[in-house]
Formats: sequence, structure tokens, C-alpha cells
Amino acid sequence: MIDLIVVGAGPAGLTAALYASRAGASVLVLDGGAPGGKMNLTAEIENYPGLITKGPELAYAMYEQCLSFGAKYEYGEVSRIEHHDDHQIVYVGDQAYDARYVFIATGTKERHMGIPHEEEMSGRGVSYCAVCDGPFFKNKDVCVIGGGNSAIEEAIYLSDIVAKVHVIVRRDVLRADQYLVNKLQTKENIEMHYLKKPHEVLVDNQKVAGLVVEDSKTGELSTIAAQGIFPFIGLDPITEFVKDLGIINDKGYIEVDANQETKVAGIFAGGDVVDKQLRQVVTAANDGAVAGQYIASLLK
Ligand code: NDP
Repeated sequence: MIDLIVVGAGPAGLTAALYASRAGASVLVLDGGAPGGKMNLTAEIENYPGLITKGPELAYAMYEQCLSFGAKYEYGEVSRIEHHDDHQIVYVGDQAYDARYVFIATGTKERHMGIPHEEEMSGRGVSYCAVCDGPFFKNKDVCVIGGGNSAIEEAIYLSDIVAKVHVIVRRDVLRADQYLVNKLQTKENIEMHYLKKPHEVLVDNQKVAGLVVEDSKTGELSTIAAQGIFPFIGLDPITEFVKDLGIINDKGYIEVDANQETKVAGIFAGGDVVDKQLRQVVTAANDGAVAGQYIASLLK
């Protein structure tokens, strides 16, 4: 039996693996993607204390660090977790892994707009990752939808690559932090469209040709010509696979105590997937450290 299975290899999962394995626990990290989670999709991380670095570089450093203390990593998408009094069974398809403790750090996924042609053009002009797909739109015009930190950060990133960025905001204020708003204001090729909601992705000749937007007050429709559409309208927790455990709240997030333990003994969670105020690499790492150290102490 493994001491700890970590589900999800973002900063929370990798830090839990680091702390627990460094304290002597046997640790297996499972993830259905590359280690690093959303750090891999972030160009620049400039608010992790002591470091200004590229997201994938921090991801790789965290990954190497936890492996160096003996944690193992396997590719695998967890489909179910079964709770027993003294152990947990983690399923990846038909394969079952036995562990004393589980730490869930599956994070969040990007919310979709739910408008016509969005899904059909996804990966063909509609993208949820500026770092991954931005270079395809060199010298073209793009729309970024949203007014939060993600949208404004990605709009700033895209403005250095593309010809013009249109930012579509449904209210007349931004939700993003002031330092990002200040940076945004220095960019001459970003045009703000306040009080506009996405209505339809415009397709011409099987290519994205623009975004039809609806005025939030009058309902009037207008079109913004663009070859790329980047929605950043919020995130939803990845908790579908644990819904039977009774540990998620009505918003879909996992609730934990001060040790990051859920109300099901032996099952812990941390990072963006838990119900919290501030979702950052540093707060995810904090959750992982708290859980990893506490779990290691339970094994003694
Ligand atoms: P947020 O929930 O913070 O913002 C979502 C934005 O999209 C809001 O402006 C919201 O408008 C708008 N929106 C929501 N639904 C729709 C819709 N259907 N149509 C049009 N617009 C819509 O999500 P983010 O992904 O930006 O951020 C998630 C979390 O991650 C936050 O806690 C954020 O602070 C954090 N983060 C931090 C970063 C950093 O510190 N560098 C970077 C990126 C994210 P409205 O305001 O009207 O609700």
C-alpha cells in the first residue's frame, strides 16, 4: 500500500508530494496531463515570492524537486475514489491503487461561453490558452472575453504578438487587480469594449471571422472582426469524479479543514479545487505543504 496518492500535479499536488516524500512517506502522483497544471499555461509568474519566472520553468523545477525526494509520477486520469476506514482506493479506469491517504489537487477548468459556434471552432480559432495558441495569431486581430485577472493578463500577453486585442467586458468595470489594469493601459493595441456580452462566434468559410456581441443594457447586437477568440470568463472545479464522496459544496468546490482534510477521514484536498478566496500558485503550494506535512505526521 502506498502512503499517499496525490491526484493532480499542479503546484498544490507537487508541493504535497514534496513535503510528504521528504518526510519519508511513499508518494505516487497521478495526473492526466503534464506535471505543472496551469503553470504550464502561464507565460510569466511574477507574484510567487522571490521568483520571477516562466510558468513551465517553475512547473518543471517543482516536479524535479519532488521526484528527487522519492515521489513517483504516473500519467493517469483518476475516475473514482473509494473510501474505506483505513485506506482509500483510487481508480484510473480499471486499475486500482491502494493508499492510506489521498490528496486531491485537480484544480479547475476553463468555463465556456455557451454561444453558437464556440465548441465547433474550439481549437480552430477559439482558444482557452493564450500561451499555447497566441503565436498562431501573429499580426492578426483577436478578442479576449472577460474582465478578471486571467483575461487581462492574457490580453497583455497577446498584445505583444497580435496586431490588435479587443477586450470584451460585460460590465463597465474590471475585476482584475490594479497592477494588471495599469499595465493594460500602457498597451496601445488593446481596445476595451465595456458593457458587451459574447453572443455568437462568427464563422466565414469555416474560419473564425469575428465575435457578435450584445450590448448589456440595450441588447443591441454588433460585430467585432477578429480571427481569434480567447474566452477567459472564469473557472469551474474539477470534482465530478468525487461527487459521490459528499465532500463538495453547492458551487462544486471541495471543503477542507485547517489541515486540508475533507470531512471524509483520510481524504485531503488543496489548491484551486478547494473552496477559498485566493487562487494563486503560492496559496496552492501552501495547501500542499500543510497537507503533505500533516499526512507524514499521521504515518509516524
Ligand atoms: P474571474 O471569475 O475572476 O473573472 C471572470 C471574468 O469573466 C469576470 O470579468 C466576469 O464578469 C466575466 N464573465 C463571467 N461569465 C461571463 C460570461 N458568460 N460572459 C462574459 N463575461 C463573463 O475568473 P479568472 O479566470 O479571471 O480568475 C480566476 C481566479 O484566478 C481568480 O481568483 C483570479 O484572481 C485568479 N487569477 C490570478 C492571477 C494572478 O494573480 N496573476 C492570474 C489569473 C487568475 P463579472 O466581473 O461581471 O462577473
